Amino acid sequence: MNIVEEHRGKCIRCGQCLEVCPRYEDPDLPGQLYGYLEGSSNISPDSLLRCLTCGLCVSACPENLGLKPLISSARRKWVNENGLNDRQTIVDPEAENNLFKKIAEMDEIPEFAKRAGSVVYFPGCAGTYINKVMVQASVALLEKAGIDYSVLSGLEYCCGAVSAGAGNPGPILRHGQKNIEEIRKRGAKILITSCPGCFKAFKDTYPRMFSNLDFEVLQVSQYLDLLLKEKKLTPENALKYRVFYHDPCHLTRGMGVYTEARNVLEKIPGTMLANKTQEGSACCGFGGGTRVNYPSDSISIASDRFRAAKKLGCEVIVTNCGGCMQNLIEAGMDEKIKIFDIAEYLALACGVKIEREDRKMIELVNRAYSSCVSAYKKPDLS
Ligand code: SF4
Ligand code: SF4
Repeated sequence: MNIVEEHRGKCIRCGQCLEVCPRYEDPDLPGQLYGYLEGSSNISPDSLLRCLTCGLCVSACPENLGLKPLISSARRKWVNENGLNDRQTIVDPEAENNLFKKIAEMDEIPEFAKRAGSVVYFPGCAGTYINKVMVQASVALLEKAGIDYSVLSGLEYCCGAVSAGAGNPGPILRHGQKNIEEIRKRGAKILITSCPGCFKAFKDTYPRMFSNLDFEVLQVSQYLDLLLKEKKLTPENALKYRVFYHDPCHLTRGMGVYTEARNVLEKIPGTMLANKTQEGSACCGFGGGTRVNYPSDSISIASDRFRAAKKLGCEVIVTNCGGCMQNLIEAGMDEKIKIFDIAEYLALACGVKIEREDRKMIELVNRAYSSCVSAYKKPDLS
């Protein structure tokens, strides 16, 4: 049964998916997607590009369908028929206009020696080129815990997940098996990723596309939770904040990982976690290509997370995804609420402070978008 037949057969037309969706309201959208996927009608690119791939529609659907799978299939069909545009190729490591290549021309990028280690840490492109604090903090914690680790970073190891989400599976096909081999070669028993997109690629997509992995795959929040349980890390410095944890969509609804980051936060002296469950979690506005296709909408959605945090009386938002970090930092430039990556926050509690230059990072990434994408407009933050 193809995806349209299955959706049409199971959907009870309750409208819950559109009720929770932050991007679409048109009740005809499911019918338009059926028609486009079956080849009986066309669809506007806007109907495909607006999706954040946040998965809220899937979580809300009583039949576990939602709109996201239809939109993802339609994106792949669109790319097959129309080719990729420069807003999609910016995440293809082999493309001329790759965003991270451009950033590497403008900024210093950390390099790590190739070496063996029982743990391989995979910071992903967002951590390597944009939110370097994620890498610095994670590496500082691995050192502190006395772990035998190596770092696998750089465009040649891009996991390919973001490009696949834009409808281009080329990079995942080209890099997937090579990445698996490199991790095996280093003798790793555990792979840790910072970005939820990389986590999903290794944990879910690679085993389906290639072969079962002979190493365990953990997102950094899961590994930090483990290190705290094993008492390899001890947060001794009190961080007296009321904290809002922002659940990254691809980690939570995408992979079902909700609790470990919360466990970490609850172990930090002085910290009060305000949202102890995932209830009310929502997208930061970054995903599904929204940051580059609709920059102002993207940042405006991120601002909603500040409203949610303020409603709970929080002074700090902690998250653990490169895209969420970038969007929350950009949306919060003039906010009093501080943003932290989970590893950065735990490192601080363990006595390691990582310096950050948020304005420089945001200016750099906007300059890179402007060079890589025709007619890119910086988000309107007014
Ligand atoms: S994934 Fe998110 S943005 Fe896309 S259709 Fe579903 S709820 Fe809407
Ligand atoms: S929530 Fe699920 S069952 Fe209800 S209309 Fe949407 S896809 Fe159909």
